[in-house]
Amino acid sequence: MNDRTALVTGANKGIGKEIARQLGAEGLTVYVGSRDAERGRRAVEEIGGDARLMVLDVTDADSVATAAAQLERLDILVNNAGIMAGGSTAPEAGLEDFRRTYETNVFGVLAVTNAFLPALRRSDAPRIVNVSSGTGSLTWSADPEHPFAVSAGSGAAYRSSKTALNALTLYTAQALASEGFKVNALAPGLRRTDLNARAAGSDGDPAEGAAGAVRLALLPDTGPTGGFFSWDGTPAPW
Ligand code: NDP
Repeated sequence: MNDRTALVTGANKGIGKEIARQLGAEGLTVYVGSRDAERGRRAVEEIGGDARLMVLDVTDADSVATAAAQLERLDILVNNAGIMAGGSTAPEAGLEDFRRTYETNVFGVLAVTNAFLPALRRSDAPRIVNVSSGTGSLTWSADPEHPFAVSAGSGAAYRSSKTALNALTLYTAQALASEGFKVNALAPGLRRTDLNARAAGSDGDPAEGAAGAVRLALLPDTGPTGGFFSWDGTPAPW
């Protein structure tokens, strides 16, 4: 296990930085994805261990290609980078909010996954974790009593981008299942980060959400694939 490598996108702060720290604590070499080199360097210093900077903007094709060319083999890819642009609910949410959000949360994940696939295929136990959201669950969104109900906010662009990410997770898992990949989506729970103003002042510790990603990143060969899980390991409804 000790020569295993992981890449976490958007790991210069928030949940991603905590995922990188926890994977490093498991003895892995962790590539800390950051679109800004200086912010990434600071995070690498804070994370310690065998953390290494990988400059990576998931919406920039050149940046993705340059980053992927650096790695011969990769065991774990955590697609964590995400944005929340615009808080309006449909149909008022602007087309531009949808485009921007999908560019990072959906197309960014697709681009990074495709680019790192050759390196992941050289792993004995390839794992992909897509950091989604409980707001991407259509079942929870449609339930007015649920904390992730549409009426609770978050905006249509963000919610539907995570629903699309969940679909992408399922299709990717099925396509790669015969090659030994485990591909799963995570709902990390409401966490106090720059992205989530709603969780400000709450006890939503990012470390707790990150632990859910680490569990999926370190799944044994008998573990599930093509699933959607809450941070505590319980299955989440699509
Ligand atoms: P933060 O805003 O704290 O962190 C987001 C990270 O993504 C930052 O490192 C940011 O970099 C990076 N990022 C954004 N755009 C890009 C890009 N184009 N290329 C590379 N990196 C990028 O948010 P969280 O830690 O809360 O979010 C992490 C993930 O967790 C997201 O996918 C989010 O949707 C998901 N999530 C969060 C929840 C919460 O309650 N916090 C709940 C459910 C899901 P930079 O610093 O340069 O902006």
